[in-house]
Amino acid sequence: MKVLIVGAGTTGLTAACALSLQGIDCQIIERRSQPTQLSRAVGIFPSTIDLLSSIGVSADLFSEAVPMRGLQYLRNGRRLLFLDFTSKEYLGKTGLFFPQNRTEAVLASVLRQRGVNVQYGLQLTDITSQNSSAIVEYSNHHRESFDWVIGADGVHSLVRQKMGIGYPGLDLPERWSIADVEVNGYMPPNLVTVNLQEPSNSLSIILPLGQGRVRVVSSKEDALSVLLQPLDIKKIHSQGSFQISVRQAETYYKNRVLLAGDAAHCHSPVGGKGMNLGIADAVAAARAIFRGEIEQYACERHKIAKEVIKKTEFARKIVTSNNLMMKCGLWVLAKTIEVVPAMRRGYIRHLMEI
Ligand SMILES: Cc1cc2nc3c(=O)[nH]c(=O)nc-3n(C[C@H](O)[C@H](O)[C@H](O)COP(=O)(O)OP(=O)(O)OC[C@H]3O[C@@H](n4cnc5c(N)ncnc54)[C@H](O)[C@@H]3O)c2cc1C
Repeated sequence: MKVLIVGAGTTGLTAACALSLQGIDCQIIERRSQPTQLSRAVGIFPSTIDLLSSIGVSADLFSEAVPMRGLQYLRNGRRLLFLDFTSKEYLGKTGLFFPQNRTEAVLASVLRQRGVNVQYGLQLTDITSQNSSAIVEYSNHHRESFDWVIGADGVHSLVRQKMGIGYPGLDLPERWSIADVEVNGYMPPNLVTVNLQEPSNSLSIILPLGQGRVRVVSSKEDALSVLLQPLDIKKIHSQGSFQISVRQAETYYKNRVLLAGDAAHCHSPVGGKGMNLGIADAVAAARAIFRGEIEQYACERHKIAKEVIKKTEFARKIVTSNNLMMKCGLWVLAKTIEVVPAMRRGYIRHLMEI
């Protein structure tokens, strides 16, 4: 059996790891000329680490990751909710901070050890598929036939477009932003801080990246200028703005082509689930090819992502809402989570699961 994976993001690399472990002949192409140095996702959930271990990507490879120690919500600088993940009951149940580009480097190194190398600088330009094969055309004008193709080529997936699979949903009107900065004395480390700020009606999330570095994600266009308590910034490593789309592919497969990761679904970064969802899709897609359970893959993964999108959108609307009722509701919810142990456990489980 011969499989092509289009895209060497976390989804494509994971799919290649899972297929190569089964001894399936797989190729992986990437239009970029080299691995990206940029990181979008920073949070890896425990279930993702378990899934990666199941395909031979040892948890030891993430030993430099920063464990999540807690989460605090601030409203206008005042603490609304604090969740401490350091108690015994949460041991091994909360996630790690590890930049996405480093996760990709770990996956690529496992692949290299198995003799699979990403073909950088090679782009898929066309794909057609019938019942028994998929024929692809590359940017170097070569054509090749495969038993299966996994489209892991991101939000603007050409695989999805060429296969005529719809991607219904919406694009949020506002632009969000992201900045990676080195700071003096940001305390406390290992703690995610979610700032809800009324003057600008904005949401800012501060995530520790280790060694004095933090990531700021904001629902406004300039992540650093809207912070109520500005950070003492030593150096800005990168910053930019982006648009959020909330979309899901109509189907996750057609003939001999499967979709996985952002090619199949996208939503806001609230909750930090996108990359984790894509990794889980990739493992499931590889198993489906191996076991011949494609329809089951499409059905199950579509259902799971639909639920994640629904919950993520609900959370985004609540935390960015200007509506007084919603704000009161959020306060009541935060206080209930803080004081009722069962609610707290349930909420933390919800945060860490896909
Ligand atoms: C600001 C921000 C913060 C985020 N934070 C988190 C977080 O904390 N946790 C989380 O889980 N998720 C997070 N996400 C979401 C996460 O980054 C994505 O879900 C994840 O990158 C999807 O991976 P992917 O491999 O499916 O797609 P991508 O990472 O987009 O990879 C697709 C790859 O395909 C390649 N490609 C495209 N077209 C072709 C072609 N025709 N031929 C060959 N190659 C092609 C591209 O160059 C690219 O490398 C965040 C997203 C953003 C924007």
